[in-house]
Amino acid sequence: MPTWFVGHGSPMNAIADNDFTRALSRQAALLPAKPTAVLCISAHWEAHGTRVTTSPAPRTIHDFRGFPPELFAVEYPAPGSPELAERVRLMFDEGQVQGDARWGLDHGSWSLLRHMYPAADVPVVQLSLDRGLNPEQHYALARGLRPLREEGVLILGSGNIVHSLPLIQWSEDAPPYDWAVEFDAAIRDFLLARNHVGLMRYRELLGRSAELSVPTEEHYLPLLYAAGVHRDDEPLSFFYEGMQNASISMRSLQFG
Ligand code: ZN
Repeated sequence: MPTWFVGHGSPMNAIADNDFTRALSRQAALLPAKPTAVLCISAHWEAHGTRVTTSPAPRTIHDFRGFPPELFAVEYPAPGSPELAERVRLMFDEGQVQGDARWGLDHGSWSLLRHMYPAADVPVVQLSLDRGLNPEQHYALARGLRPLREEGVLILGSGNIVHSLPLIQWSEDAPPYDWAVEFDAAIRDFLLARNHVGLMRYRELLGRSAELSVPTEEHYLPLLYAAGVHRDDEPLSFFYEGMQNASISMRSLQFG
């Protein structure tokens, strides 16, 4: 099964019909098969420790404020997969990944999955981002998830390569900042060169554009999961590129 990283952008994409959401639908239809399950690493679930959702019926979490009622009304009733959660737990040392029965699906996952699988008929499990890990440790954890691809699991990192809320422009057609374009292109080039050390050490290598583009790491880190589970000989394609609100990169990609 290929592996994805998707730039999710605004929660409003969940109920939008735009170039980005159509690209998601199209790309899901192009996968070699319907995944046996989706394992989503979302920017919106940071935790102490690496946790995996165990609920057989994960709740839809509306983890945002100030959006219209129709967005709060969205439910995404995909089943969970306690079996996959257990499988993930057993892939690591005892205690390294813990089951979590309370978390469900945050908008980092359901705002995308609605467009990918509108019938909500593919089981979904989420894996948290451990606040205590550095980029190298996240990447190493991702490598441990590789065997799941052979089992038909779609590993889906959901974040944004450039994600600066402090400097966001609310006008949708605001031109992107120079530093945002520069950072997005530099990361694209690291990806194309399979320079995964560059992906992990982006801060020291890219300086000011990295500081402005990644003020906090949670939207960037899911990219390391997509990169960590791929093999160097696999193709890489970008199925969506573009900048929203001047400081959010929607770059989305598939390995494999
Ligand atoms: Zn987000």
